[in-house]
Amino acid sequence: FQQLKLEDTNEGELVEMGKTFNHMMELLQTNYEKQEQFVSNASHELRTPLTIIENYADLLKRRGLERPDLFEESIDAIHSEAIRMREMTEQLLSIAKQEPWNIQLEQINITQLVQETVTTFQTTYQREVEMEGNHQTVGYTDIQKLKQLLFIFLDNARKYSDGKITVRIGQTDKDLTIQIQDRGVGIPYEDLPKVFDRFYRVDQARSRKQGGSGLGLTMAKDITDALGARIEINSKEKQGTTVTLFLPKEK
Ligand code: ADP
Repeated sequence: FQQLKLEDTNEGELVEMGKTFNHMMELLQTNYEKQEQFVSNASHELRTPLTIIENYADLLKRRGLERPDLFEESIDAIHSEAIRMREMTEQLLSIAKQEPWNIQLEQINITQLVQETVTTFQTTYQREVEMEGNHQTVGYTDIQKLKQLLFIFLDNARKYSDGKITVRIGQTDKDLTIQIQDRGVGIPYEDLPKVFDRFYRVDQARSRKQGGSGLGLTMAKDITDALGARIEINSKEKQGTTVTLFLPKEK
C-alpha cells in the first residue's frame, strides 16, 4: 500500500475515502448478518428430520412392546430420516460453498416412493393426505433427493394450510408428474417469482412461527435443476397452492 499523507489529500478525496470506508463497513455488516441468518436457518431446516426421529423413537418407547407392528415403520422412518439429515447437512454445506450436487440416478418405482414418503409424513404430523393416481410409475431418479423434494413440498403444504393435502401422480408426454396440492393461505401473485430466493418468506412472522427458514424452496430448486427436473407453482391467495414436479422420463 502506498502511504497516504494527509497533506496530499484534498477535502473531496477525504469525503470519497469516508464514503468508501462506510461502504466497506456496510458490506462487512451485511455479510455477517447473512452468515448469521444462514446458520440459524440451517438449524431450522434440520429440525424437521429431527422431529420425525424424536417422534418415532418416542412412539417406540411408549408402545413398541405392545405394538410390534409399529416396529418396521418406525425403524424405517428413523433410518431414512437419519440419512436425510446427513444428506441435508451436506447439502447445506454445498449451498454455503456453492458446490455441485452429487446425484445418483436409479430406476425406481416412483409411486411406491411417493406412498412411503406420504406415510412417514402422515404418521409424523398427523395430517390427512389423499393420494390420487394409483398406477405404478417407474422412472429414473435419485431416491434420497426425490424424498427430500417431496418432504419440502409436503412440509410447506402442512405449514401453510390446515385442511386436506392431495398428492397426485400423473404424466405428460415427456415427464412424470407429482403434484402436491393444499387449500391454505396461498401465495400472493407478486411474491410467486421470489419464493425460490434464498431466505425469502412471504410472511416472516407466520413462516418463523411454523419453523420456516426460507431455504426449503431454494434447496428444492437446486435439487430439481440437478435432477434435470422442473417445478411449477400455481397459487391463489386464500385458496391454496399446487406444486407440480416434472421428472423427465428419459434418463
Ligand atoms: P419456509 O421454510 O419459510 O417455508 P420455503 O423456501 O420453503 O421457506 O418457502 C418460501 C416461502 O414461500 C414461504 O415462507 C411461504 O411464504 C411461501 N410458501 C411456500 N410454500 C407455500 C404453500 N404451500 N402455501 C403458501 N405459501 C407457501
